[in-house]
Amino acid sequence: MADFDYDLFVIGGGSGGVRAARVAAATGAKVALAEDSRLGGTCVIRGCVPKKLMVFASEYSEIFSDARAYGWDIHEGSFDWGRFAGQLNTELDRLEGVYRGLLEGSNVEIFDQRAKLAGTHEVRLSDGSTRSAKHILIATGGHPVRPEMPNAHLGMVSDDIFHMESLPRSILIVGGGYIACEFACILHGLGVEVTQFYRGAQILRGFDEEARGLIADQMQERGIDLHLGTNIVEMCPADAERPEGPAGEGLGAPVSEPRPDAEGGSAGPVWVKASNGMARSFDAVLFATGRAPNTRDMGLEEVGVTLGRRGEIVVDDFSQTAVPSIYAIGDVTDRVNLTPVAIREGMAFVETVFKGNPTPVDHELIPSAVFTQPEFGTIGLSEEEARDREPVEIYCTSFRPMQTAFAGRPDRVMMKLVVSKETRRVLGCHIVAPHAGEMIQLAGIAVKMGATKEDFDRTVAVHPTMSEELVTMKSPVRSA
Ligand code: NDP
Repeated sequence: MADFDYDLFVIGGGSGGVRAARVAAATGAKVALAEDSRLGGTCVIRGCVPKKLMVFASEYSEIFSDARAYGWDIHEGSFDWGRFAGQLNTELDRLEGVYRGLLEGSNVEIFDQRAKLAGTHEVRLSDGSTRSAKHILIATGGHPVRPEMPNAHLGMVSDDIFHMESLPRSILIVGGGYIACEFACILHGLGVEVTQFYRGAQILRGFDEEARGLIADQMQERGIDLHLGTNIVEMCPADAERPEGPAGEGLGAPVSEPRPDAEGGSAGPVWVKASNGMARSFDAVLFATGRAPNTRDMGLEEVGVTLGRRGEIVVDDFSQTAVPSIYAIGDVTDRVNLTPVAIREGMAFVETVFKGNPTPVDHELIPSAVFTQPEFGTIGLSEEEARDREPVEIYCTSFRPMQTAFAGRPDRVMMKLVVSKETRRVLGCHIVAPHAGEMIQLAGIAVKMGATKEDFDRTVAVHPTMSEELVTMKSPVRSA
């Protein structure tokens, strides 16, 4: 048998790659990992973690007025982006250090440089040297993409948000997916005037329609200027000459005065003409128009790894590519692009390759949350998906929660169960409410176990809570 430098070489130091490297090393394997950016990857450095900290920061804007309603003599202060961003960067540095420490503690050799494939068992590092490995794991993740249109570079992408030197006074967010909706709510909460364009009929395509509708209503109610069926048709720097006339022409929409200190990740104020006739300038534009796998210039196809239509690495149930010695996990495979899924894929890879226990990854019934305000927690089938498959009963309630109703806010929440008429199993659970992410993690266990509506009913309510409605809905609101 050939001698290799390593048993495993991992390319990519995000959540999936780091976990796989550590767990493989724990089996006694000799492991190396290369990362050309910061250890921790998208989730820790420019995704879930800094995003969630921004969610927390933005939620304080409502807490002041709520506290006053509850009798506190409290006065609203102003939000200091610079102070928050400094604290955020310190925390990200700490987390990056934790990841490095975990790898070093597991005896994984770290290369802080780019690696690409040079053969079926060989990687080339950016310093020109090569290393051989019995197995290679590609965990390079993905990157945000801008739409193809002139001047698209004027818009930021999600990576840029965390590097803004100051908050824009106004922003246009393009897209209706997780990232667009989350940042619309975050930036609105931080005091930015937010306009959102989504090209389709309703945001959060693919999720339960009733939930999408409620989230969109609540976002608008809070002051986000959401335009459905709308896209950018033209954009240019706000101070550029345009045949159409000065910024602000069109539907008489206001021109946002550029902040003298506005820099953002973009090139300054941007003038935008929209498909609905709106024409105005924004201090910044954020494209949240999807992500693409990081497979370019990786030497993949040269060694025989198959790529799919979207540039993703094609793998089997065991994350193995068309080349037997090369595996891939996480967003680079474009299966279910969520951090905990990448981690599971990494663990299953180690189980399969290093522990001799072939383990496919279970991609069924994955709970997830969208950190909008209100939050959205979801697992299983939407009402629309379920009724296409079999006869279902829908149990659903929407109400004003006690905490914010007391403070005079119009917020509404929703609890919904999609139930199979035949088996009585809960096929889908959808929660729109503060802390819905926390709730769906627990409800998800029951749904994953195959709980029936009657199992939910047998569970005593925890009173008074919002989620008690999940076990007290007696009659279906409709059958479908
Ligand atoms: P999504 O694919 O979820 O959404 C992209 C959005 O951009 C869609 O609304 C899409 O519209 C729209 N879009 C695409 N191309 C264009 C275009 N040319 N012009 C106008 N609009 C366009 O991607 P995101 O970037 O929001 O998120 C990427 C992934 O990251 C998610 O799928 C998710 O897996 C993960 N993620 C998870 C989070 C969480 O768990 N909370 C948070 C953030 C990200 P259309 O619907 O018409 O296609």
